[in-house]
Amino acid sequence: MKTCLFDIDGTLIQTGGAGQVAFAQTFADLFGVDEITKEVSFSGRSDRAIALDLMRSHGIEVNESNWHVFRNGYAERLPAALEECVGRVLPGVESLLDTLRQRGDVLIGLLTGNLEQTAELKLGYYGLWDHFPFGGFGDNCTERNDIAAIAVEHAVRLHGEPGAKDAHTVVVIGDTMHDVTCAHSVGAKAVAVPTGGQSADELARSNPDLLVDTLEQSDELLAWFDN
Ligand SMILES: [Mg+2]
Repeated sequence: MKTCLFDIDGTLIQTGGAGQVAFAQTFADLFGVDEITKEVSFSGRSDRAIALDLMRSHGIEVNESNWHVFRNGYAERLPAALEECVGRVLPGVESLLDTLRQRGDVLIGLLTGNLEQTAELKLGYYGLWDHFPFGGFGDNCTERNDIAAIAVEHAVRLHGEPGAKDAHTVVVIGDTMHDVTCAHSVGAKAVAVPTGGQSADELARSNPDLLVDTLEQSDELLAWFDN
C-alpha cells in the first residue's frame, strides 16, 4: 500500500493570497493591528506557528484564549477572502488525483499547515476537498514535522494491517523545503514542485527525492512512484 500526502497552498491550489488577506483582517479586526509585519514568513509553515509569531511580533499575549480568538476569526473571514482573491487549481492536480484514486492502491491525504476547517474551506472552494479522507493539519502543531508524524500515523491506521508501517510507502508532495524536510523526518519520500513559494533551484538544494516542474508531469511521477 502507498500513501500520497499533499500540501495545499502552492501545491494543489493558489488562493491569490486569500489566507494572508484573512490573517491580516483577523489581526486588524480582533487585535487592532493595522498592518501585519512582513517579517513573519507564511511559506510552508503551520497556521498556528504563523499566528503565534504574529502575536509575539505585535505585542499580543500568546495564550490559548488568543489562539482561539484568532482561529475562529480567521475561519470566519476566509470565505470572503477566497471570493475576493483570484486563485486557481494548479496544473495537473485534478488529473493526478483522479488517476491516483482510480488505481485503488493509494491512500490520498493531506499534510498541511492549514487548520482542518480552513483546509476544508480552501479546498471546498476549489472543488477538491472530497479527494481527501484524512490528513495532518496545523491546528495543534507549530512544527511541520509533528504534522507529518500525525498524518503518517493516520494513514497507517486507515491501512489497518499490523506491521503496515514498515511496508508502507509514504510520499509527501509539496512546494517548499519545509515539505521536503518534514517528509524526510518521518521516513517518507519527498516530491517537490516549484508552483508555489520556492524556485526549482531552491527546492533542489533541499534534496527532494523527485523534483517536477508541475504536477502535469504525472507520468514521470507515477513511474517513479511505482519504482
Ligand atoms: Mg505550500
